[in-house]
Amino acid sequence: MADCIFCKIASGEIPNVKIVYEDEATMAFLDLNPQAPVHALVIPRRHIDRLTAAEDGDTELLGKLQLTAAKTAKLLKVEGAFRLVTNNGKGAGQSVDHLHYHLLGGRKMLWPPG
Ligand code: 5GP
Ligand code: ZN
Repeated sequence: MADCIFCKIASGEIPNVKIVYEDEATMAFLDLNPQAPVHALVIPRRHIDRLTAAEDGDTELLGKLQLTAAKTAKLLKVEGAFRLVTNNGKGAGQSVDHLHYHLLGGRKMLWPPG
């Protein structure tokens, strides 16, 4: 997608992105504006607007995203305690319309989240 910042990150067009993990279908990189000592974003390389825009044909990709999140948690050494969350839609706080999971860790997580 032409104007999508995460598509540009996925294709390597944006410099200074701190990539934690990548494979042919997914990638994880550090958030520009971290909300916890560890804050990574886990995305599919292919553009999907949000989780509710995913289709049956995306089943394998969504599974890979979960595994990428787990691998990223291990690489960032927060595998014992982290939160994985997606903001689906503007009302939930989604500001970038390319499916992404926030992986947050390194501090005590509050519940319920704000
Ligand atoms: P959302 O608000 O859509 O759930 O999350 C979008 C996230 O993307 C925010 O946490 C924001 O800090 C992050 N973000 C936006 N633009 C960039 C960017 O160009 N690079 C990186 N690394 N993170 C970004
Ligand atoms: Zn995109």
